[in-house]
Amino acid sequence: MPDVEAQAAAMRAQFQGAAIRIGDSHVIHAQDLCTWIAGVQVPAPACHTGFAISPDRLHPVWQDPTCQLCTGRRRPAEAGEQITGQLTLDATLEDV
Ligand SMILES: [Zn+2]
Repeated sequence: MPDVEAQAAAMRAQFQGAAIRIGDSHVIHAQDLCTWIAGVQVPAPACHTGFAISPDRLHPVWQDPTCQLCTGRRRPAEAGEQITGQLTLDATLEDV
C-alpha cells in the first residue's frame, strides 16, 4: 500500500500555486485543500467538483480559474429568488 502522506505531499508540491483542470475538461478550477484518505490534505477544486472521482484525474495548470462556482460568479439560488430564464409557476403548495 502506498504511503498516503507521501503521496499527498507530492501532490501538494506538484500543485503549488496552480489551478486545477479535471481530465480533459476546458474548465479551470481554483485550488483548495481537501481532506483525503487518513485525514491528509490534498489539492482539490475549491468547488469540490470531481474530487471524489479520482485525484489522479486532477492536473495542475497555471491559468486563471474559469469555473463559475470557484470564482463566485454562480451561487445556489436563495429561497424565493427568481432565477433568470425561468418562468414563475401559478401554483401554491395546496395545489401539489
Ligand atoms: Zn470549480
